[in-house]
Amino acid sequence: MNPLYNAMPVFAQNWAWTLAGLRRSRSLYPRVFQRTLEEYERTVNEPIEVHHARQWKMLKHLIERARTHVPYYRFLPPVEERSDPYESIQRTLANIPPLEKSVYRARPRDFRADDIPGVRLTEYSTSGTTGTPLPVWITSERMAEYAAACWRMYRQAGVDLRDPWIQFPGRPIVPYGQKRPPFYRVDAHERRTLFSIFHMSPANLPSYVDALHTVPASYVQGYPSALHLVGRALLECGRPLPVGRLKAVFTSSESLLAYHRETIEKAFGAPVRDHYAATEKVVSMTSCPLNRLHLDMEFGIVEVEPAEETDEYVRGQLVVTGLGNPATPFIRYRIGDVGARAKKPCECGRPGDVFLDLDGRIEDYVLTRDGRLVGRLDHVFKEIYEIEEAQIIQHEDGRLEIAVVAAPEFGDTGHRRLLKAVHSRLGADMSVDIRRVPSIPREPNGKFRAVISKIEKAQA
Ligand SMILES: [Zn+2]
Repeated sequence: MNPLYNAMPVFAQNWAWTLAGLRRSRSLYPRVFQRTLEEYERTVNEPIEVHHARQWKMLKHLIERARTHVPYYRFLPPVEERSDPYESIQRTLANIPPLEKSVYRARPRDFRADDIPGVRLTEYSTSGTTGTPLPVWITSERMAEYAAACWRMYRQAGVDLRDPWIQFPGRPIVPYGQKRPPFYRVDAHERRTLFSIFHMSPANLPSYVDALHTVPASYVQGYPSALHLVGRALLECGRPLPVGRLKAVFTSSESLLAYHRETIEKAFGAPVRDHYAATEKVVSMTSCPLNRLHLDMEFGIVEVEPAEETDEYVRGQLVVTGLGNPATPFIRYRIGDVGARAKKPCECGRPGDVFLDLDGRIEDYVLTRDGRLVGRLDHVFKEIYEIEEAQIIQHEDGRLEIAVVAAPEFGDTGHRRLLKAVHSRLGADMSVDIRRVPSIPREPNGKFRAVISKIEKAQA
């Protein structure tokens, strides 16, 4: 953190955030945002054929541009047009091999279009698994489209652009050494209160609970793991927020686990709506009141490489194509996430692709002795109430370690129940060490990892 910022009194730090809010809203919400949001709200319930026709038009344009202006895509095969737009999309994409992250990592500049001046672009960093930041160039129009996709969901949940709100962001907010409350800062321009996710110790959490009851807000936004921790604190001291005080809690950036959702909804007295996206701004999925993730069809195309298929869904790695962002086009990009796409439309009535769940990154899997890759085990932890938080670490020799933050009543019974539940899912031959810990460390960016796999084979 900036030493100058750290040295400022709290009120001056609030000014700094207000200024940042002013700058943020200028860059995020230009006129094109309003226009796009209106368009997105108008198109959301259009018949699927209309969505496919729009996707085809955008894809055709994207591919033609990429062939002319993007060095990496100079030899991309031309589009294959058929009378049915959906078929045209399928045929055209089938001719293009998937793009691996490692290829992008080796030569990111070859993906940048040569006809867009740098002044119109913002450079973002996406962190690869190696931790090396990778640049991505994004136009301000694309950022506005991204914000519009979020806001379509926000407004559907009854939230308005000018409403006061609370955020638990991944960035540092409060100087690390600060020992006393307040552990939040105020951005008066955006009517936003930012809470630090790096000060949530048992000693500090009561002050978070007090603040959450007094700070004005109609919605909360943040990492599910951070909101889960605060949610536990609200419930443990018997002071959940009154039902209906908040309109919604919006989560993003991490897999929303089943026990996260349960705690957050109980503690904050509002429904959780989740957003799945990526730093590359190639894909956006927003959840509906039935907790299904709907692909924002105007924003990108998602293919699923089938690894498991039933009558209900097809599960596998996601291959995404971003529609828009002419600056850095990603065509058939293996993003490294796994999801299950439903075969039937969602009962909420919104047309388009719908996902039952997204299991997160391919490296977030446990490998069983018989070679199965098993996604997150959060439902196990949800069933055992004394568990507050858990992290699975799979070591190179296949051994599984489960770090558990548990209530005192967890005891031997909890231990046995957890072991039984894990064995029933991963096989009795899996060796499992359960370890009680006071807390689970976050990644340097504040993110929680539900599974850490050290096995080579589990990595994409
Ligand atoms: Zn739905």
